[in-house]
Amino acid sequence: VWYFEKMKLLRKNIWFVLFAMSYVLFANWHVFLTSLTGFGKPQAAFVKLEDPTLSTFIKEKTGVEIRDFYLVNSDAVFGGMTGIPTKPIMTISKKMYETFLPSELQYVLLHETGHYVHHHLVKEALIQLGVVIVAFMVFRKVKLSRFGSLSLVLASAFFIGILTIQLMRAFEWQADTYALQHLDDPQVMISATKKLQSAWTGPADDSVQRFLFYRGIPYSQRIQFAESYRN
Ligand SMILES: [Zn+2]
Repeated sequence: VWYFEKMKLLRKNIWFVLFAMSYVLFANWHVFLTSLTGFGKPQAAFVKLEDPTLSTFIKEKTGVEIRDFYLVNSDAVFGGMTGIPTKPIMTISKKMYETFLPSELQYVLLHETGHYVHHHLVKEALIQLGVVIVAFMVFRKVKLSRFGSLSLVLASAFFIGILTIQLMRAFEWQADTYALQHLDDPQVMISATKKLQSAWTGPADDSVQRFLFYRGIPYSQRIQFAESYRN
């Protein structure tokens, strides 16, 4: 009986469930894909990175303590910030760790620390949770045909997803500002960004797709920002 009840509940909320899944997948697609690039290799996807110079550098420059670092076994070049508020975990792709100069890596460390200091992960979660809660209330009230409901689900997941990506880009600007505030030389941000740019296989900096679907700041804009930044 409980199974039957559950199925009834799912049927009643099917449009909401579809919305929530497609919205969360779409708004975070790039994050999902980059974290998945570590899988499918003979070695483990994530390996604890024992390099005390990383946390020492961050502590010295910012006073922030980040103790856990993981290497993502990936040929893509990226860094990331995960974990919960009191237990931050920084991830760095293997390729980035191996090809970036220590000074270039410092930019990445400070950028990711900026995400942590500004609580971006928590804010992202709250924003997306807020959207999902509002959607739950709205979809309960909507009475449409199947086709109407499906169109509404897909169109709203798409548009709200794009809006969410724009908000995430504002967080990227904040993290870059934080990095520049703590870097001795903005030049290392420029050379790191150029390395990221040459590894990039996505759409061009000034394309519409790049603006709509990618939270990352286009490289040319990041370089300009670093060039014009004065402490
Ligand atoms: Zn970032």
